[in-house]
Amino acid sequence: MFNIGFNRIDNEPDFPAGMPLPTSKMNWESKAKVVRNFKTSLKLQLRNKQKGRCCFCRRLLGDDGDVHIEHYLEKSALPELTFEIKNLALSCSTCNNAKAGAYKRLCGRLRKQKFRKEGIKSTITRCIGFSGAFLPELHQNQFRLVHPYFHCFDDHLAIKKGWIYVSKSRIGYRTRKCLKFNDISAIEARAKSELLAAHTGPASLVIEIAYADADEQLNLARNLVKYLEALKTIK
Ligand SMILES: [Zn+2]
Repeated sequence: MFNIGFNRIDNEPDFPAGMPLPTSKMNWESKAKVVRNFKTSLKLQLRNKQKGRCCFCRRLLGDDGDVHIEHYLEKSALPELTFEIKNLALSCSTCNNAKAGAYKRLCGRLRKQKFRKEGIKSTITRCIGFSGAFLPELHQNQFRLVHPYFHCFDDHLAIKKGWIYVSKSRIGYRTRKCLKFNDISAIEARAKSELLAAHTGPASLVIEIAYADADEQLNLARNLVKYLEALKTIK
């Protein structure tokens, strides 16, 4: 059976007493020390709590460049939740890109609808994973996709034969579709980053070669030969 690593994040990350934390008015991209320290500490803690796996697909996370602090509810739609801990988890770039694409399409569709009905050009933002009923506190009934803090993954999805995602609920179905869990290109991208995360040295180069375009493969193969020759001289 596929190891999903964690079912949900039970204890949210916490920060040392006295450590200054960003306020909801601050900008996520700010270079201020308080924001940088918050992100660094959060990333380390979440890696641990998520057992090194993506908060959506549960595949192994790659190196830092491939890992995103995901705003489950998009910060452009709900800026007040930019630094809300329970709105933040680590995702792989494949899930991050799929969710961002779905969000963009949804906002575009709503904008067009509003223009057709009312002739008003406006910026409409509605979160992909939000029911629209805003309760005073975040609650699992508000979410449309499997939420890393509020839902147990295996209540909603199962992974068969290592790569096939099967939904067990409407939320699971929506998550699978929206994040393209069973799309071939997304499967390949996740497989590559998962293999790279699990291997170092020449094995990681072999993986790069296997997934590269034909014209890139020769260059990568030359690099592998050079690497192996260098290893021989060291020994
Ligand atoms: Zn993922």
